[in-house]
Amino acid sequence: MKDIYEPAADLIANAHIDAAGYKEKYAASVADPEAFWAEEAKRLDWIKAPTKIKNTTFAYPDVSIKWFEDGELNVAANCIDRHLETRPDQTAIIWEPDDPQEDAQHITYRDLHANVCRMANVLKDLGVGKGDRVILYMPMIPQAAYAMLACARIGAIHSVVFAGFSSDALANRINGSQAKVVITSDGAPRGGKATNLKDNVNQALLHCDDSVQCLVVKRTGQQIAWRSENDIWLHEAEASVADTCAPEPMNAEDPLFILYTSGSTGMPKGVVHTTGGYLLYAAMTHQYTFDYHDGDVFWCTADVGWVTGHSYIVYGPLANGATTVMFEGVPTWPDASRFWQVCEKHKVTQFYTAPTAIRALMGKGAKWVEGSDLSSVRILGTVGEPINPEAWTWYNDVVGKGKCPIVDTWWQTETGGHLITPLPGAIPTKPGSATVPFFGVQPEVLDAATGEIQTQTEAEGVLVIKDSWPGQMRTVWGDHNRFVKTYFADYKGYYFSGDGCRRDADGYYWITGRVDDVINVSGHRMGTAEVESALVAHSAVSEAAVVGFPHEIKGQGIYCYVTLMDGREPSDELRAELQNHVRAEIGPIAKPDVIQWAPGLPKTRSGKIMRRILRKIAENDYGALGDTSTLADPSVVDDLIANRADG
Ligand code: ATP
Ligand code: MG
Repeated sequence: MKDIYEPAADLIANAHIDAAGYKEKYAASVADPEAFWAEEAKRLDWIKAPTKIKNTTFAYPDVSIKWFEDGELNVAANCIDRHLETRPDQTAIIWEPDDPQEDAQHITYRDLHANVCRMANVLKDLGVGKGDRVILYMPMIPQAAYAMLACARIGAIHSVVFAGFSSDALANRINGSQAKVVITSDGAPRGGKATNLKDNVNQALLHCDDSVQCLVVKRTGQQIAWRSENDIWLHEAEASVADTCAPEPMNAEDPLFILYTSGSTGMPKGVVHTTGGYLLYAAMTHQYTFDYHDGDVFWCTADVGWVTGHSYIVYGPLANGATTVMFEGVPTWPDASRFWQVCEKHKVTQFYTAPTAIRALMGKGAKWVEGSDLSSVRILGTVGEPINPEAWTWYNDVVGKGKCPIVDTWWQTETGGHLITPLPGAIPTKPGSATVPFFGVQPEVLDAATGEIQTQTEAEGVLVIKDSWPGQMRTVWGDHNRFVKTYFADYKGYYFSGDGCRRDADGYYWITGRVDDVINVSGHRMGTAEVESALVAHSAVSEAAVVGFPHEIKGQGIYCYVTLMDGREPSDELRAELQNHVRAEIGPIAKPDVIQWAPGLPKTRSGKIMRRILRKIAENDYGALGDTSTLADPSVVDDLIANRADG
């Protein structure tokens, strides 16, 4: 495995920015943020250009974040209308349905405009106006993007709830935001099976105010139960509305959306993003991180229920006049070649997915990649969890054929866009490192215990950010105090990410996992990511999750949950082999105390491992698993408890 990968010469030559350009631009961005962001703000179309650029303080407890506060703009106008003059017939959205037999759709900017305007007019007819909340509970269909943009067009605040969530989670989010309307579909096909979404909405609405209206997109045509006259078919409502709708002028600091975090560490937080700063940051990161050029076909495989789908399926790409792929299906249906088939079919140039998908496909074997023509793909991206060097290398070699830079993008729902990421033509990559900060982002490493700033380049501790960037969240919906306490109370004067990291001699950042997940073995602090990487580096292992558990002698012991590759069987010999393998890779201190075979790992609906639950199981304390409402498959937990290994 190589330690460092330099960008190829032809890539550098065609990229938006090279190594020297990055250095210069980064230096300018932190030397004079006002001037830097005033200039970058010109990439948006403003109804009234901002004269006040940055007004932010992280001082506890008076945290306040405002960007471009006297500017006015409309997000939908920026994502659609301004492209109508230059590229009306260019495809804005390529929609790839769940079933490969069904036709894909190519939606031009002109079509997008008409569809969004119609939906905006329907929402207006339902009494939705500026500042009102609308819940989206939808499959990955074009109407989900139309709905987001329709809200933005009339100044309503959307809150997308992932369609895999239960009716309880949905009801909480409807009530939490006091939404006027829920937009959904009859059914949601995924992996060849259709969920009856409307039923879930009906269940949820039993716990909500009677006045909540439900707008239904016809997707599958399956039988659904109608509740009352408050249920409306979108296609019927659209029959009588105009296909133009004037965009509402919005202040840059008006909320654009509410979105809940994934719930990996506890109760999900209702993150609020605003209009100007968020859009600017999403657009700019989309352009630089993926080296996006006109004519590219950009595919982010996330669901619009996550921030990744907001920033890199809808807002960033469309603000840049891009062609963005929206995929309704899953990576492994009809078989494990689906992602690559879609890349070939639509000649995808940038492909952005999550480590969980990469590891799952790696577990199925390279043969599923080899049958597809991936020659159009230029850049590969990853987000969501630390990516193990083993999975990184597989992605690089098998998918990228060694010619596509991998951008490992570190960011959060809270940050709106990438904060630490390589830029393809500028930053050599190292497998497992998110590398260096984006423009305007000032990371610092603090000692976890003392909060002392680590001034030497090589350092380890908690990852904080020193100053604001435009894409930063502004508050927790309805609970500003929680916002201030969660992110600014522990390390005064900084935004605290909740993640731990290591900075190497080149100034590269390596995310070591959640601070809560750091383990302390006989006085040695260790990130769980490191032990997991070592395990996954073994040819028998497809996925691993590591947590600490109380250990009489060492303080904490190392408890590993291991999922094997297809075709490998658990055995005591393999267990010993893995223990020795980790010992050899990292050192005697990291030798796992316990290895439990795990056919599945508890994951959030967005595919992240929920270590807090694994910790409880390892600690033999599963009476108190905490909030499990965002768990993808609760039965995995029962299996792990039933087969708990004794430490
Ligand atoms: P919650 O905040 O509710 O516990 P969450 O943190 O999983 O859930 P997200 O905002 O979806 O919710 O995820 C952000 C987190 O994902 C980061 O704080 C980090 O731990 C992890 N992450 C994202 N991208 C990367 C990456 N490239 N490398 C390492 N970790 C990453
Ligand atoms: Mg988080």
